[in-house]
Amino acid sequence: MIRSLSPRVEAVFWFLLTVTGYYLLASLSLYATRGADNIAAVWPASGYILALLLLMPARGRVPAFAGMAVASIAANMGATTPFWTSLSFTFANMVEAIIALWLIRRHEPGELSFMAPRAVIHFCVAAVAASLVGAGLATLLAGRGGDFFLSWATTVLLGMLIVTPPIVMLTRMMELKAFGKVPRAMLVEATAILTGAGAVTILVFSQSHFPATFLPSIAVVAAAYRLGPFGAAAGMLIVTIIASLLSGQGYGPMAAIDSDPKVKVLFLQFYLLSLLLAALPLAALLIGRQRLARRLEQSNRWLLQAEAAALVGHWRVNLVDWTIYWSDQTYRIHGLEPGTPVDVDYSVRQYLAEDRAAVQRVLEEAVRSGEPFEFHGRILRADGQVRHVKSHGSIERGRGGGATGIFGTVQDVTETVENARILEAARSAAERVANTDMLTGLPNRRHTLTFLEEAMAGARAHGAPLAVAIFDIDHFKRINDTHGHATGDQVIQRVAQRARSVLRDEDMIGRIGGEEFVCILQRASALSGEIVAERVRKAVENGVGQGDGLPPTTVSIGLAVYDGEQDIEELLHRADQALYAAKREGRNRMRRAA
Ligand code: GH3
Ligand code: MG
Ligand code: MG
Repeated sequence: MIRSLSPRVEAVFWFLLTVTGYYLLASLSLYATRGADNIAAVWPASGYILALLLLMPARGRVPAFAGMAVASIAANMGATTPFWTSLSFTFANMVEAIIALWLIRRHEPGELSFMAPRAVIHFCVAAVAASLVGAGLATLLAGRGGDFFLSWATTVLLGMLIVTPPIVMLTRMMELKAFGKVPRAMLVEATAILTGAGAVTILVFSQSHFPATFLPSIAVVAAAYRLGPFGAAAGMLIVTIIASLLSGQGYGPMAAIDSDPKVKVLFLQFYLLSLLLAALPLAALLIGRQRLARRLEQSNRWLLQAEAAALVGHWRVNLVDWTIYWSDQTYRIHGLEPGTPVDVDYSVRQYLAEDRAAVQRVLEEAVRSGEPFEFHGRILRADGQVRHVKSHGSIERGRGGGATGIFGTVQDVTETVENARILEAARSAAERVANTDMLTGLPNRRHTLTFLEEAMAGARAHGAPLAVAIFDIDHFKRINDTHGHATGDQVIQRVAQRARSVLRDEDMIGRIGGEEFVCILQRASALSGEIVAERVRKAVENGVGQGDGLPPTTVSIGLAVYDGEQDIEELLHRADQALYAAKREGRNRMRRAA
């Protein structure tokens, strides 16, 4: 509204607003609460001008001060104060307002907020400084003493502290149209509390039989507690108006004090000041708490959302009273409704019996050492599902250094574990396929030779004997030619089977070529190697083609005993030579390399 006015009209607006408000408040307080020195108990006009200065743009200040000067001189003279004294008082009040405004703006360059404890402190300090300077000035100009100084300072201080906050807050709330947004229940509560504060103050200050001055304090603290800074300020204003008016008219406990009128006024002023100094900071602190609580609630909500999105829960065991806390996601992981009562034993019993001891051991060790921990186990959920879960956490320590809690996160890793298991099965199946000869199921050439290499390294390292037997089916081309390739394959399979069946578990047999096999006989000397090779030969001779529908089949075998060869080729070459000799000498026999 003000922004749309022309500069001249705006100046008139500020002048009129100041002159009328200031004159009315000054006259009222002079009339109603004037003490012995022609000084009021409270000077609301100081609070009024300070509030206007805080709210108005800088260009409004000159017309406002002009208005204030006119109003102040008029009100003082109206109360029969001589012109020069009125002028001095007006000057002192103006200096006060300028100092207060300057101090507040220096620390709070933006909008002064009564919601922040720091800003409230800056405001109070500015009011104290301004009223002391003003009091000093007025005392000097009027040539008065210490009593006058004290009386002036408290009067102005009260005026600023009590009147400025509600005007500033009310104007801001109206600018923000905040009243419309206040819930109805809160409006009702605010009205009830403030009406109650007024009623209690009337009760206390209209009689002097029961000096129950603590009652308005309770009402103001209640207003601060329930309604915040605005409640504190409004409550204070109501108590001040009623208490000053009634005391000024000679009613109530202050007026009944059997003393000098100055002392009575001082009593009232200090009563109001102590009330104010308790209520304003309390209200600001409460608002700070509320904001903190809201922020905490918000970050807690974010934490829960993050947990739900990441499928990670958290838990905490209180080691002092042996209770446990589960976050919502922890409940979900355990297949329970969030909030279901759980205890430490229950949370341990969730783990399968096989995993429970290991989990307990990890936790006990962590509590003992104070180190972070990690464990993995399977839980049996309430719905009967077995899930893999993984926990990470740390130990909380008390001031004495002892463990007071265990904090951990928990994650359902069933899918990861399941995927890893499938992957491992696929990998080992692939490895088996890569190492196995498809026709016979025996280790293939690559695998056999790798095994031989390892066996040879072992023999070399431990000085243990090692024998290698190569065998080859006799006249296999003929079998193929006569009975067909398929029968040939069956013969190969049958030979492999028979040979395998007569070997020890620690011996290995692999297919290294079409119808060629290698037996690796560990810890076998020449003699035992010959015995085993001979057993293989007989097993084929007597076991293939004997009533199984296959042609009679024999093998020739070349045996070589490890003799410090550098590589497997040398050893295999010697075995091959022996095999060649066996073939040459008529087949179906075993020959050992020299
Ligand atoms: P010898 O007694 O001298 O060993 O004579 P042989 O006929 O067995 O001769 P050789 O060992 O050289 O014969 C190998 C034959 O084996 C050649 C090939 O046709 C056949 N063969 C190789 N691999 C397979 C196979 O997987 N299945 C079948 N059915 N035949 C194969
Ligand atoms: Mg061959
Ligand atoms: Mg052959």
